[in-house]
Amino acid sequence: MIQSLLIANRGEIACRIIRTARAMGIRTVAVYSDADAHALHVRQADEAVHIGPSPARESYLVGEKIIAAAKATGAAAIHPGYGFLSENADFAQAVIDAGLVWVGPKPDSIRAMGLKDAAKERMIAAGVPVTPGYLGADQSPDRLAEEAAKVGYPVLIKAVAGGGGKGMRRVDNPADFADALLSCQREAASSFGNAQVLIEKYILSPRHIEVQVFGDTHGTVVHLFERDCSLQRRHQKVIEEAPAPGMDPETREAICAAAVRAARAVDYVGAGTIEFIADASEGLRADRIWFMEMNTRLQVEHPVTEEITGVDLVEWQLRVASGEALPKRQDELSINGWAMEARLYAEDPANGFLPSVGRLDLLNLPDHVSGCSVRVETGVQEKDEISSFYDPMIAKLITRGPDRISALELLADACEWVSCYPVKTNAWFIVRICDDEDFAAGRVTTAFIDQNARVLTATPVASSLLRQEAAQQFIQSRWANPTEYHHRSLRTDRGLSGFRLNADHNFRVNLLENGKPISVDFDIALYDGGTNWEPSKGGSFDEIDAREVLYVEGGAPFDYRLERRVATGASAADGAILSPMPGRIIAVEVAAGDTVTKGQKLVTLEAMKMEHSLTAPFDGTIAEVNAEIGGQVQEGVVLVRLDTGA
Ligand code: ADP
Repeated sequence: MIQSLLIANRGEIACRIIRTARAMGIRTVAVYSDADAHALHVRQADEAVHIGPSPARESYLVGEKIIAAAKATGAAAIHPGYGFLSENADFAQAVIDAGLVWVGPKPDSIRAMGLKDAAKERMIAAGVPVTPGYLGADQSPDRLAEEAAKVGYPVLIKAVAGGGGKGMRRVDNPADFADALLSCQREAASSFGNAQVLIEKYILSPRHIEVQVFGDTHGTVVHLFERDCSLQRRHQKVIEEAPAPGMDPETREAICAAAVRAARAVDYVGAGTIEFIADASEGLRADRIWFMEMNTRLQVEHPVTEEITGVDLVEWQLRVASGEALPKRQDELSINGWAMEARLYAEDPANGFLPSVGRLDLLNLPDHVSGCSVRVETGVQEKDEISSFYDPMIAKLITRGPDRISALELLADACEWVSCYPVKTNAWFIVRICDDEDFAAGRVTTAFIDQNARVLTATPVASSLLRQEAAQQFIQSRWANPTEYHHRSLRTDRGLSGFRLNADHNFRVNLLENGKPISVDFDIALYDGGTNWEPSKGGSFDEIDAREVLYVEGGAPFDYRLERRVATGASAADGAILSPMPGRIIAVEVAAGDTVTKGQKLVTLEAMKMEHSLTAPFDGTIAEVNAEIGGQVQEGVVLVRLDTGA
């Protein structure tokens, strides 16, 4: 058995690998960039090596630095995790050439599956069903258009070297083919350095079904059943589950057997995933499931398979890499119960899924809900930073139950209990998905999120009960701990009766809710705080301590402050133009004293490789400009102050 292991990755997957390695008595070595100097994976590993600046291409993607770190620390093996160098055959070869153990498949297996066209050719030869399409070397636009017509519209143009959902174009009409081809080739050339494309039939009602396979160096290959990852946003998975809803035993047998054939065809060793696409217009049928691609590494969603099979896939990887035979035979593997995983991202679904970076002042991830345990895979803790250099995933929450509905209910409850502030998350978005009838019934295709985007991404609104409670907190805040936060579940508290308003005792509290002014009518007769506080009848609670109260309801944070009224009648926040995220100022269009009209561009910020223009919310005069071209700014900084001019 390997005695020491370097993990060439970061975040939750590095922590995940460290956990199993430690349990197996293996010494662990982490690597880290500048941004990750204090990261959780660094704190958890036995040893850690600094490998360079924050951008991944200068640290986590530099193979030589990682191999040098392994040499320097005497690590015997390298686990690549997922992403970064995990599917880089040249790196795998370099690790082996350096005399180290590569925890992954042979470089040739990675190469064989690396290009989509070559992989499909091989699968056809191995008797694995592949999506109908054109894989030819003739890449002339005329030939490709001719082949697209043969395949039949709609078609999908795919970059053969594509990945991560990039380099794909759906085309519905022959008239649009030429333009789509050009733009796909352009993106393929710039993103993957290879403009070659293939044409596939575009599958309507598509479901993403994948099979976990495992091979050892003794020639054994087994499968660990399927996962359903149909719930995607822009081809990126959001919720994954195992097994797949509606999968009958014969269909399962057929696709799992095809997956094992696929793995055998490339002499596969270690953990791998065969991804299939299913036409689910008439349910799952063996003759309507086709090979899409193979991922030659551990997947993000591997925990759902672990939960239903009881297998630790990282342990298997380390055993196989050490030359051991697979711990279980195919007939010793079975499905037990149902598991679901949600990817909790630092992003704002109500704002185009804009990534949200910054310090996690508050982070509470529930490890229990309704008396059941929740598996939390994360690489961060409260007070850590979500940086803009890497994937904005905060955690994966995994639940299991005897059946799908119990696992799903637990997942929704778990996401409701996520408390994160001020970094924004998609927790409430996941709760809404879980509460959707079609999803609950297992009737979703990869188009589900797009089709329901309006409802799923609408800005969360606090319930009136929550506002009542918040208003009450402001009275209590005279003695309450100002740093605490409160939590309400919309799902489990549904039966709670609200406050009844009594007209005689009705007072109005003016609050700022997430920065926006609201008025809450509050019945003081129902408030029994035991104080001698006497409101002036019909007045507003202006004398109350100005403190902040934070609630999380339905997975969404609501921050309440007492509104300080300003003379003009407008809220103080209105004329303050804040930076929406950390970034760099790339244009300043106004100076103090300028008069501007509503909608006029004031400042442009570049963040997360995108430009964001901030505009005037109303006509007025610039009172103050606090931005310089080239300057870095944090989130929430006042960049411009605008006066109404009144
Ligand atoms: P990548 O390598 O970029 O992840 P894939 O080939 O795995 O690309 O496809 C990503 C996603 O695109 C799939 O999960 C599926 O949702 C969708 N997709 C791929 N091929 C097709 C197809 N032929 N028809 C419809 N949707 C497809």
